[in-house]
Amino acid sequence: MEEHHQPVDLGKAVLHPLPDERLLVKNIEAAVLRLDRIHPVISGNKWFKLKYHLQQARGSKGIVTFGGAWSNHLVATAFACRQAGLASMGIVRGEMMTKTLEDARDYGMELRFVSRSDYRDYPTPHDYYRVPMGGESPYGVAGASEILQLVDLTAYTHIACAVGTGTMMAGLMKGSLPVIGISSLKIPSGSANIFTGYHFGGYARYSDALISFMNELYQLHQLPTDFVYTAKLLYGVLDLAAKDYFAPVAGY
Ligand SMILES: *Cc1c(COP(=O)(O)O)cnc(C)c1O
Repeated sequence: MEEHHQPVDLGKAVLHPLPDERLLVKNIEAAVLRLDRIHPVISGNKWFKLKYHLQQARGSKGIVTFGGAWSNHLVATAFACRQAGLASMGIVRGEMMTKTLEDARDYGMELRFVSRSDYRDYPTPHDYYRVPMGGESPYGVAGASEILQLVDLTAYTHIACAVGTGTMMAGLMKGSLPVIGISSLKIPSGSANIFTGYHFGGYARYSDALISFMNELYQLHQLPTDFVYTAKLLYGVLDLAAKDYFAPVAGY
């Protein structure tokens, strides 16, 4: 396994323009904030959501947190804990071993596989600080809200983000712009701003159409996406644009 000792570099979170024909015909300009570039392991929103949890965990033996077989949150937590000199324990729903979980284990995380019923109520081990799944808590939301500081919000009319636990979306909603969420889970949402029709079968599920869409985005815009979150996000945004969800801005 490669070692990635460099610190998180927020300067690498550039705005990647998306001059897509399907947006341009609707007079929409969009850009993707490339949070995936800030670090090879703790990328995307995960570092932001963990930031204040890590501060809170100081003085503890380590962090215990929760996730499924494809949880990048577990990998990010394992890595961040190792950097901070903390132990890490991951409570995993199910029994399946994946590349994602192997990464978490290679970064020093002790994995415990538990049944669905034992998952949420898993007792916090002595001297461990507990981080809920996906970092979901006021600390996670506060960290995620700092993503807003990377963008000149006055240049935009909407923010769109992918939704798992909704922690990032809650943070982004602390800013001045309307936020829409594209859910990657096959569950109904109580929020009018969360679109649930783009999950492609559910969490970490995908179809040939989604994979073709990812290849197309890469060829057209050199934009890498993942099938858990960002491909579904962009698919949803392009579909909403086609359906005239984004009202034209006066004066354009
Ligand atoms: C982890 C992740 C999400 C999910 O974030 P939540 O705060 O759990 O909703 C969304 N988008 C990307 C790119 C992610 O990596």
